[in-house]
Amino acid sequence: LDPVPSDIDISRAQAPKHITEIAQELGIQDSEIEQYGHYKAKVSLNVYNRLESNRDNAYYILVAGITPTPLGEGKSTTTMGLSQALNSHLGYPAIANVRQPSMGPTFGIKGGAAGGGYAQVIPMDEFNMHLTGDIHAIGAANNLLAAAVDTRMFHEATQTDKNLYKRLVPSKKGKRVFTHSMLKRLEKLGIDKTDPDSLTEEEIAKFARLDLDPESINVKRVVDVNDRFLRQITIGQAPTEKGFTRKTGFDITVASEVMAIMALSKDLKDLRERSGKIVVGSSRNGVAITAEDIGCGGAIAALLKDAIKPNLMQTLEGSPVFVHAGPFANISIGASSVIADKLALKLAGRTKGTNSPRGFVVTEAGFDFTMGGERFFNIKCRASGFRPDTVVLVATVRALKLHGGAPDVKPGQQLPPVYTEENVELVKKGCANLAKQIANAKSYGVPVVVAINQFQTDTVAEIEAIKKLAIEAGASDAVASNHWAKGGEGAIDLARSVANTASTQPFNQNPEFLYDLNGSLEEKLETIVRKMYGGRGIELSQLAKDQILKYKNQGFGHLPVCIAKTQYSLSHDPKLKGVPTDFVVPIREVRLSAGAGYLYALAAEIMTIPGLPTHSGFMNVEVNDKEEIEGLF
Ligand code: ADP
Repeated sequence: LDPVPSDIDISRAQAPKHITEIAQELGIQDSEIEQYGHYKAKVSLNVYNRLESNRDNAYYILVAGITPTPLGEGKSTTTMGLSQALNSHLGYPAIANVRQPSMGPTFGIKGGAAGGGYAQVIPMDEFNMHLTGDIHAIGAANNLLAAAVDTRMFHEATQTDKNLYKRLVPSKKGKRVFTHSMLKRLEKLGIDKTDPDSLTEEEIAKFARLDLDPESINVKRVVDVNDRFLRQITIGQAPTEKGFTRKTGFDITVASEVMAIMALSKDLKDLRERSGKIVVGSSRNGVAITAEDIGCGGAIAALLKDAIKPNLMQTLEGSPVFVHAGPFANISIGASSVIADKLALKLAGRTKGTNSPRGFVVTEAGFDFTMGGERFFNIKCRASGFRPDTVVLVATVRALKLHGGAPDVKPGQQLPPVYTEENVELVKKGCANLAKQIANAKSYGVPVVVAINQFQTDTVAEIEAIKKLAIEAGASDAVASNHWAKGGEGAIDLARSVANTASTQPFNQNPEFLYDLNGSLEEKLETIVRKMYGGRGIELSQLAKDQILKYKNQGFGHLPVCIAKTQYSLSHDPKLKGVPTDFVVPIREVRLSAGAGYLYALAAEIMTIPGLPTHSGFMNVEVNDKEEIEGLF
């Protein structure tokens, strides 16, 4: 339709298939799905075990972006459009794997992750709110851990060693028994005993007293609302807590380590182990204290036993979508889950020894390639063992004009005329950014197809200029795509190009990572800044230096690192457009996500719980007499 209606109107106008039909088309058996209403279902991890031995993996396609404008350049929309074209128009098995959006932004500043126009996940209201409750389960698991930490400090402060031990290991039917976590703690302490009554007084004190330093606690409580008033709070103010108050704060649920763990786990067993490895803080003598030490690892995994199953939904054209996990793109990987990829790669794969078609899994890396793309390869691919067959790099005329020197743009404001009138020179100049991001993606040994996400005001000359410069910069192909206005049909050329590139372009079979895990953390940070961002190096604050030393001494020096910076520049400074050089990235702080399996370095002030704007998304939302939700985007 012209003009293209709103996202919710498009979503509502399409009658979705029943989710059992989507499951059947994928060859998922009835016993392997759990329905949540008519249009959503959880898929059991047993599918993988059933298909493991007789199916090759599908082609794995990563959609990533050049340095964007604050309006977004259409990565999610392209992920949907491309999978719609591959599936409904070219006839391949094709699955899109995307993140679950947080309700914080949904009700705050406009912006979902469902895609847009005629390339989106439906029903989009169910996608954007609650889904099947995974984020709520993650919140429950995280908050249980946070409560356990403060309560443990309180109990340790108010009880003698002996009493503490007696209460921690109570006697049941006249016999005391250690729990699984307790046995693990004994192992960590080097106490080779399994009978709770055989510990010496010294061992009892060592076992029972974690001696957590309250200043070191890094587990915050979480909530899935942009509630800025929870950024800093004081807990323990009721008289029952006897003056044990502590300053802490809330994060948005998707910024929690538990969310990152769900995204990076391979299966339930892996998730259980990672949950136990969450470091909640340090003891007063510098030992890392974990969720396992607190006895909470098993309960976290138990709370996530359903959330760990990917959610099956569909695109506007009835092709399958897995929606699973949604770690915060600022401080985490900003990609959907390893488990969803693992299942989808089998489901869309080829039956071994047959001529059945090898399908596609299209997934997305959040933010621009220097952030989402880099972390996808160095953190997510390291955890999963998979690597993409092709990178689709999304570019727009408007973002390239911005990098070529056009004035800044802001959401909600009218675009300056230079963005809607032809200006080939600005586009050409801005292509330097595209060229750098092509080189970045190619450095992982993977072919790159540039997808020019077409807007109504783009001209033929502008698009031709991008195509020419993209090929010169080393892209295998560059294709204009019109899926936002036309759905899968508008992305057929892109889909053909991706299918051709993935199946014919040679790539190095051995995964190429940017840095060696055995190098020092300083070396890893330097390498990311020099090779991905094009900068001169890093400058560490004293705090960051102290933290790096602490993590090294605690045995976490071998982890990969995620740098939290702006996505609006290749550098750490959002004002530096195009291809800045000669900059030094300041690292203010380094934090640890031991369970998720990475460290993260802050190169900017990072807000881990956003606020609500004066006119917030929630103000537009209503439910009508037919119980339909209105006003979501
Ligand atoms: P990203 O995933 O890169 O942040 P999205 O796919 O979410 O970007 O798109 C950002 C916004 O721009 C969405 O509201 C989407 O509907 C809109 N959009 C994307 N592509 C187009 C297009 N070609 N024409 C008009 N609007 C578009």
